[in-house]
Amino acid sequence: MLEPKQLEKAFKKVEDENWMFRSFLKGEDSDHLDSRVHDLHRELFKHMDCISCANCCKRIVPAFTQKDINRIAKHLNMTGADFKVKYIKEKQGVLVIKTKPCPFLTGQGCSIYAVRPECCRGFPYTDKKEMVFRLINLVENCRVCPVVFEIFERLKGIYRTEFEEYKKEMAFYWK
Ligand code: SF4
Ligand code: SF4
Repeated sequence: MLEPKQLEKAFKKVEDENWMFRSFLKGEDSDHLDSRVHDLHRELFKHMDCISCANCCKRIVPAFTQKDINRIAKHLNMTGADFKVKYIKEKQGVLVIKTKPCPFLTGQGCSIYAVRPECCRGFPYTDKKEMVFRLINLVENCRVCPVVFEIFERLKGIYRTEFEEYKKEMAFYWK
């Protein structure tokens, strides 16, 4: 698996192919795709040390629901209002953290891990159903998460024959 610092460069090399692969996957059987992605998710996260990686905490701006804010503020002995003033801004109607990397990231990982926002808890969502509707995020997260990058590479291997056929058929449009 790649190191987080290798991802950006590696992603640039496969970015076009990944978008083409995303178009191909849209036409695949949804249950079949879910089962492949979930198997890879389980296998790869078994060996991944997310605390030492923490690339998502450095690169992604997490969104907070009001429930997240109330829970985390209580944990920090703050009011929800004070927490919002200190850490949260609104961006296109969504409550997000003000600064990047996330201010709760420490050398030992997330300092509010037990009460972290639901969106952090779920990232990178590769264990969710109906991956076919999450493919854009999956491609974008290839540049952030080493596991997602690896899942995508392994999926290309699993669907190699069908994807090669698809590439030939679509060559004219993808020039
Ligand atoms: S709240 Fe914790 S898990 Fe979420 S981005 Fe910040 S440090 Fe990472
Ligand atoms: S979810 Fe992905 S990017 Fe985030 S810490 Fe784990 S491996 Fe790294």
